[in-house]
Amino acid sequence: MPERDSFELINPVTQYERVEPPLQHQSEPGVQAEMTPVPDLGEDTYRGSGRLSGRKALITGGDSGIGAAVAIAFAREGADVVISHLPGEEEDAARVLGAIGAAGRRGRAVVADLSEAAQCRELVAVAAEFLDGLDILVNNAGKQVAVDRVENLSDEQFENTFRVNVFANFWVTKAALAHLQAGASIVNTASLEAYKPSPDRIDYAATKAAVNNLSKGLSLQLASRGIRVNVVAPGPVWTALQVSGGVSDEQMRNFDDENTYQRAGQPAELAPAYVYLASPESGYVSGATLNVNGGMVTP
Ligand code: NAD
Ligand code: MG
Repeated sequence: MPERDSFELINPVTQYERVEPPLQHQSEPGVQAEMTPVPDLGEDTYRGSGRLSGRKALITGGDSGIGAAVAIAFAREGADVVISHLPGEEEDAARVLGAIGAAGRRGRAVVADLSEAAQCRELVAVAAEFLDGLDILVNNAGKQVAVDRVENLSDEQFENTFRVNVFANFWVTKAALAHLQAGASIVNTASLEAYKPSPDRIDYAATKAAVNNLSKGLSLQLASRGIRVNVVAPGPVWTALQVSGGVSDEQMRNFDDENTYQRAGQPAELAPAYVYLASPESGYVSGATLNVNGGMVTP
């Protein structure tokens, strides 16, 4: 990507290189460090300008992909950050903690399986203690496993996708509300799939529609308390989700064909949307969904 200070206009369609990955498979949840190519978290490009000075943020699934890019951006904007991840993701989490520390902020990684309510509550308690409060919550952890036929979609997977993508969002938010005060911001993560479900991701797509709706209802409920709730809806982004069963081999081979720009996004391209929605600059924005999807039009 060209230097941010460049006076040259940048064509967004070619701003990042197309992702034409070799076929690769990992077991869930996937280790980003083992991907080819390794997703771009914005380590070399994101520049902060004090937009989240002194803020205290919890980001679920912040070890890799979009959550990791958000964690790095938040730290460079002046926030202390707690990230959560699953067992086996320590290597990715350590890299993010290194970037948070290099930005001069405090960071901590907490292992938690958010498909369990008790672990959601424990995560929030640990985060609030480490941060001495909480004012930004990013619900980002997610599960996506492609299954071609509904007959092959196990009851267990259907339930687990809802537990991780929807129930955890509810459990973590509910626990976090004990700490959030007026001015706090909740940013949830939906997907283009909320509007345009892929036929082999019906469970996942339904959870993302639910996240959108849940967020809008909650934004209305929390407005009188001065707490905002917004959503980022990414399009196809090159992350560990894709190589750990998230898409079919056919889709991985043609990963770049899925959107208007005909290129996948990088996690680095998502982080600024979360920064905007977390910062007071977006104070007049609540109940909104910000689509970051390579030019796809949504309702
Ligand atoms: P990612 O694999 O890098 O991050 C997802 C993280 O979710 C994992 O690192 C893992 O720590 C966490 N997670 C999964 N199951 C969990 C569980 N049971 N308990 C706790 N944590 C768990 O992938 P990503 O693409 O950056 O995903 C981040 C979010 O973005 C997800 O909500 C995903 O649905 C959403 N999203 C991604 C895309 C895309 O194309 N990559 C598109 C739209 C939306
Ligand atoms: Mg991960």
